[in-house]
Amino acid sequence: MSSTVVDHELIIVGAGFSGIGTAIALRKAGFDDFLIIDEADGAGGTWHWNTYPGIAVDIPSFSYQFSFEKQRNWSRVYAPGRELKAYADRCVQKYGLRPRIRFGTTVVRADFDDALHLWRLHTADGDELTCRFMIGATGVLTRPKLPEIPGADRFTGTTMHTARWDHDVDLRGKRVGIIGTGASAIQIIPEIAERVSELVVFQRTPIWCLPRPDAPLPSAVRMLMGLPGGQLLTRLASQAFVELTFPLAAHYYGVLPVSKLGERTGLSHLKQQVHDPAVRAKLTPDYALGCKRPSFSNDYLRTFNRENVVLETDPITEITATGLRTTEQHHQVDVLIMATGFKVMESGNMPTFDLHGSNGVKLEEWWDTHRLQAYEGVSVPGFPNFFTIIGPYGYNGASYFTLIELQTTHILRLLREARRNRSTRVEVTHEANDRYFREMLDRRGSQVFWQESCSLANSYYFDKNGDVPLRPMSTVEASWRAGHFDLGDYRFDKAGTNVAVNAGRAQASKADR
Ligand SMILES: Cc1cc2nc3c(=O)[nH]c(=O)nc-3n(C[C@H](O)[C@H](O)[C@H](O)COP(=O)(O)OP(=O)(O)OC[C@H]3O[C@@H](n4cnc5c(N)ncnc54)[C@H](O)[C@@H]3O)c2cc1C
Repeated sequence: MSSTVVDHELIIVGAGFSGIGTAIALRKAGFDDFLIIDEADGAGGTWHWNTYPGIAVDIPSFSYQFSFEKQRNWSRVYAPGRELKAYADRCVQKYGLRPRIRFGTTVVRADFDDALHLWRLHTADGDELTCRFMIGATGVLTRPKLPEIPGADRFTGTTMHTARWDHDVDLRGKRVGIIGTGASAIQIIPEIAERVSELVVFQRTPIWCLPRPDAPLPSAVRMLMGLPGGQLLTRLASQAFVELTFPLAAHYYGVLPVSKLGERTGLSHLKQQVHDPAVRAKLTPDYALGCKRPSFSNDYLRTFNRENVVLETDPITEITATGLRTTEQHHQVDVLIMATGFKVMESGNMPTFDLHGSNGVKLEEWWDTHRLQAYEGVSVPGFPNFFTIIGPYGYNGASYFTLIELQTTHILRLLREARRNRSTRVEVTHEANDRYFREMLDRRGSQVFWQESCSLANSYYFDKNGDVPLRPMSTVEASWRAGHFDLGDYRFDKAGTNVAVNAGRAQASKADR
């Protein structure tokens, strides 16, 4: 039966940093009736789920944090994952979010009610929750991806995906195989190589690996950062480094020589770190730096000098009961680690639940037909009252926290306007969305992704249409747009029926489960 009472004005799906940042922004702006839902049993998203050995942030911690919640006590320039998880928990506690989070609850479907202008969310345990506005904060690296190699079910040893690390598995003295050499693998490999008897690294595409300007942050340095201006200066330097190494390098490839400089640095790093020229050759990328997210590590490459580490580049043909067979040989392993990443721009992840907008149109199908697109990376026409943090063409590759703050600025402008004019339905117009999409396509010419060599990179940036839905602009421009986009690009309407907000019903009864 159709409800005419909404449980909450807003529901945020996801309690990672996007969900946390959105909730804080809502509270600060006086939007207090919201619920956060997460399938995990704790906050932090990525940093809750990923606990593999060596996990750390891959941009300086001074940038990987909220601008309004800067902390000084990171143990290193590149903080380990557990510190990010603790930071998430601290934000939840400090901003009083815990009573508003319902953990252990998976959203499986959401439908927009065209008559009542509200969203109905369905959970895996059979509940229905309603809200006026829904915020998608389900992240992008959420659903672990397994390789499609025949025989995976025959393997009799232990298998684990990097995003679901089993800390009960003791790797000491074991023969270990790891499939993949992406961002997670390059952190794990040096960490476990010393412990295991043999480590076979199965590489499909070598990764660009640059030196990491990392160091412990002794308490004296942290104290200095506490002096007037200290934190601001550190943050500015860190932001400039991040901006230069990704958004500017990637989006202004033809204009700025950053990528070429980075490639020279990467090649010289490789030469210094790896002794055997044959292994070095296998580790040398044959695509331009930036086609896929580069990594920063001071110990990944040199791990391949170890006697107990083998770099295998022949394609894997099957997984057997005792190991992996390549086109040339069979490797026996006791433990198989899948460092095979996540579903990114594909079915089951965009978003992680079935989302049906106005007239029952399914978002995944709309994107299938129209290509991935979202106005300013936030809104999609036909999906009223739904806003997403990491929509297509929203993220420019800078700090993820910058993205969260920009998108919440955009969303709050809409919510304030809706509150001011008592609207119950907010939807981006097709014209505005088309204009934005055309602009994104027109501007992408100067991006690195269109180098011929990128076709060799196996990069998750490319979707099945060959598009790279990253926002081709600097962070300064993206920030300006979040605060200045034309509110006339949206339609604000009122429902004919009165819908009461039953604040706190679901929250009080279930959030603390
Ligand atoms: C191993 C790893 C390392 C990374 N390192 C960096 C880094 O160094 N720098 C960087 O900028 N970025 C990094 N990232 C990207 C990282 O994902 C983002 O920086 C950021 O943490 C994403 O936050 P989020 O809240 O958007 O998504 P997430 O952190 O993924 O959180 C999404 C949350 O939504 C929940 N959820 C998803 N679907 C549902 C559903 N249907 N129902 C209920 N709950 C749901 C999930 O349980 C999860 O808690 C890394 C990612 C990974 C996987």
